Amino acid sequence: MSEKNYVIESRNVHLYYGKNEALKGISLDFEPKGITALIGPSGCGKSTYLRTLNRMNDLIPNVTINGTVLLKGEDIYGPKMDTVKLRKQVGMVFQQPNPFPFSIYDNVAYGLKIAGMKDKAKMDAIVEESLKKAAVWEDVKDKLNKSALSLSGGQQQRVCIARVLAVEPKVILLDEPTSALDPVSSGKIENMLLELKEYYTMIMVTHNMQQASRISDKTAFFLQGDLIEFGDTRQIFTNPHEKETDDYISGRFG
Ligand code: ADP
Repeated sequence: MSEKNYVIESRNVHLYYGKNEALKGISLDFEPKGITALIGPSGCGKSTYLRTLNRMNDLIPNVTINGTVLLKGEDIYGPKMDTVKLRKQVGMVFQQPNPFPFSIYDNVAYGLKIAGMKDKAKMDAIVEESLKKAAVWEDVKDKLNKSALSLSGGQQQRVCIARVLAVEPKVILLDEPTSALDPVSSGKIENMLLELKEYYTMIMVTHNMQQASRISDKTAFFLQGDLIEFGDTRQIFTNPHEKETDDYISGRFG
């Protein structure tokens, strides 16, 4: 749609839950690498929008979606799109860590096994590298065969991020990835995301405006299903152009 090298382009995305219009025509593009924060009061459509980017809303009954979402120029709602492949390319991390009830190793190797990888040495190397990138290798390297459920919440979340990284995503969607965690675990995840953003395009819903201003490069402010303002994080937080953005970031509502 444009000359710029966007990883994701979304145009005029409308989403209805039954008759309730939760997204009222969102157009937003994402450049390679870095973190974009999606902020706004509860119920404004942040998570819904995030889920349109890898078709997670398809799993919810009575949802209607209009508009266009392109991943590297390819229409993700097009008839040829394989949603399993799409969700590998556009991986997702949820608010509650959701490891499978398997070993730590098998959690991270899951996508590789599904894809039919047989080379054990290669798989070992990818599991190690992914756990290192997710800053949890030192915590788990001596207990890879233990259940992922035996880990702390913060460690589980980092293993979930390693699971996403193992399949080499183009984009990582994060839906309030630290809101269920204590401040120390949240800080570790923020530091890890700061390192990962050199290599990955990440889009993160957060309720925490300090977090958005600490780690994101771009910020999009949503209100009642509309995108009110999008820009460099520093500009949004220090010199918002729209009154609603100013009111929200200065705590006048939400
Ligand atoms: P946010 O992430 O900003 O808190 P959501 O995207 O979760 O907002 O919700 C946007 C709107 O869509 C809200 O009015 C919410 O009640 C509605 N909504 C979200 N998920 C569903 C669902 N599964 N079924 C019906 N309505 C939903």
